[in-house]
Amino acid sequence: MTGETLLAVDKMEVVYQRAITAVQGITMQVREGQIVAVLGTNGAGKSTTLRAISGFLGLDDARVTEGSIRFKGAQLENRPPHEITQRGLALVPERDKVFPNLSVAENLAVVPRCKGSGHRSMNDVVFHFFPRLTELRRREAGLLSGGERQMLAIAAGLMCEPELLLIDELSLGLSPVAVGELVKSLVAIRAELGISILLVEQSASVALQIADYGYVLENGRVVLDGDAERLGSHSEIREFYLGQSGANRRSYRDVKQYRRSRRWYG
Ligand code: ATP
Repeated sequence: MTGETLLAVDKMEVVYQRAITAVQGITMQVREGQIVAVLGTNGAGKSTTLRAISGFLGLDDARVTEGSIRFKGAQLENRPPHEITQRGLALVPERDKVFPNLSVAENLAVVPRCKGSGHRSMNDVVFHFFPRLTELRRREAGLLSGGERQMLAIAAGLMCEPELLLIDELSLGLSPVAVGELVKSLVAIRAELGISILLVEQSASVALQIADYGYVLENGRVVLDGDAERLGSHSEIREFYLGQSGANRRSYRDVKQYRRSRRWYG
């Protein structure tokens, strides 16, 4: 189902304001047609990783100081966001997803094309995946519900015909019903358009539902990675990220520590 390596991040380090190292030596890949999840708690470095890949880091006075980011072989680290978008990567950001004073249709109309192919009417494609947006065409984006706003943000990302869609926090603040609809749409988008997806999620249960592969970040490092199925059945992931036992653990490492100590003394 999945093919060649599309995105390869190798030993990437990201530093904010020349002082704060947010990401330290991260290595990850996305293959053609894959949905890859990046999991981790607050401050783990998930958004920083997506911003570095999409080129939106510079706005926060940050730089990739070590390592590399390659997309179909081309080096992307520290390149400007418009250049990266033109190469076929589109970011759906965590905040400021839409222009609140523009209508749904206008939000879609202002998106520049990644590749300018213009062969298909992306408007029709987008409304096919998000039929709810058809009814809301004329509604101001600021008046949409959280789920509708996320639909519009993903739709706007699709408008520039990317090969890789980067989504920062798909489910944050949304109801399970809204998340379920979005998940269905993403599965259809991958199946019908062959677009790969790199998804940042705090909710492991949401991410592992649709991902093929996952990376768990903690304190700016990858602490675990593997097939989604394997991660979902990993006892430590289940305990910490899926909350299936043991409350109030501070980190994935704590869970490991706790298990080791039980093994040791038990
Ligand atoms: P969350 O789920 O809370 O968004 P995250 O995993 O996406 O967390 P990041 O936002 O990437 O984590 O933050 C990683 C680290 O970088 C944190 O320690 C954070 O305080 C720091 N950081 C993020 N943005 C900036 C910034 N603009 N300036 C300085 N430090 C920052």
